[in-house]
Amino acid sequence: MKSKSVKLASLFFIIFTLLLLLPTACSPSQLGAKAIDEVRLLVTQDKWAIDFLVNLTENGSPIFNADYYGYETQPAESPGYTDFRDLTKQLEEIYLGSDAYGPFFTLPMFGTPQVFESDGITKVNPQYFTDFTAGIDIETIRVIKSSSSQIEFAFDIIGSDSIKDGHMRAAKTKNGWRLEESFYFYYLGQLGVSDIDKAYNWEESSVFEPDQNAGSSKRLIGKCMLFNVFFNDKESAWDPEAQASLQSLQNEAFRYLESQAAFYGQDLSISSTNAGNAEYFDIGIAIPIGDEWDFWADDFFKESTSYGSVNNFLEGLKAGYPGYDNYGIIMNVNKKGHSYSLICDPFYEEHENFYAERIVAFHSTDETYEFALSSATIAHELLHLFGAVDLYFPFDWDSERIQLAFTYFPFELMRYLPMDDINDAYISVFTAFRIGWRNTLPSKLHIFQVNH
Ligand SMILES: [Zn+2]
Repeated sequence: MKSKSVKLASLFFIIFTLLLLLPTACSPSQLGAKAIDEVRLLVTQDKWAIDFLVNLTENGSPIFNADYYGYETQPAESPGYTDFRDLTKQLEEIYLGSDAYGPFFTLPMFGTPQVFESDGITKVNPQYFTDFTAGIDIETIRVIKSSSSQIEFAFDIIGSDSIKDGHMRAAKTKNGWRLEESFYFYYLGQLGVSDIDKAYNWEESSVFEPDQNAGSSKRLIGKCMLFNVFFNDKESAWDPEAQASLQSLQNEAFRYLESQAAFYGQDLSISSTNAGNAEYFDIGIAIPIGDEWDFWADDFFKESTSYGSVNNFLEGLKAGYPGYDNYGIIMNVNKKGHSYSLICDPFYEEHENFYAERIVAFHSTDETYEFALSSATIAHELLHLFGAVDLYFPFDWDSERIQLAFTYFPFELMRYLPMDDINDAYISVFTAFRIGWRNTLPSKLHIFQVNH
């Protein structure tokens, strides 16, 4: 037995050595021919992945229910890849790790992801209709350079007016050859649309603006405390039923923001005072309901309370709840009105008066009312406190930004407030940058920075 296993071992050693020598035994043209076969296979698989993840089609058919015309996410209807693990397993066979295929799951670059994982299922967002037609002409693939660990290959591009040829690389792994990048991202890179500024810290980005990180609500991460303040005015008063209704809208808004933060890889927990431990004030005036910013609360705290200012009022509240990363106030009024927020923007000289950042929320259960309070309204106004800006640009003189916002952010929460389900809106890469969920901003989106 002993000698047999020694013989077997030496036989394996010889075979193993021969295998090691094999590549060098091939002539360069043989190696080139083998490499081209490998590359052609990968390019074919890459084309499948682009169709699936960019164009949302497989063998020419949509991968979601094509009869569906809404914008709610749908499960992928591809039998092989409805299970998200099967999809990533397939991508591992094509690309050099998740760095190479991960960007597919951040598409489109300026909206909510079009293919993503939810409870293990591959979900598709049918609101995007990308028709990416450029591709590698497989017949023209030629190896420029190859070693035992890397192949660089060139090719002609079909289906594109602007770029006619290119070159990419494949790398050897222990499981076989893999593409270092998808053709899709290579192509975008050549077009110059995938560049982002390279800041490692949020405030170092070349387009960072000071109001993004000012006031009592700075960056929407960590532990946030929101103080509810209930105002009874000349025209309206709070009752337990209205407070319960408000509480449920707020909870929906807070949980939505926490889940969106998680999507961007950020930890966020939002706490608030409730009807039982909130602050209450009776105010002798009819609180103005206009959609202009209004300083009735500042006047009230100055003239009718011992606090002297909203800032001092907040400092008092903070003392009871130490240890949070951010604080904000929600001033609630139980009547119809257009909710708004007052923020601390260092662009304005008197911004320190608004250190205590606050929302004025008008609660009404009349769903026919144009500005009825919804969880989406609350989340939208809250995002303002943390630096988000409106994405409909009502004050723009020229229409370029308005048009681009329409293209990039159709259902983004800073321009779209769904009445029924807040999950019908999403938080874009742009807003994520404004509120500190991303350190960088793709250059195509710099135009949306208000002061640039
Ligand atoms: Zn707004």
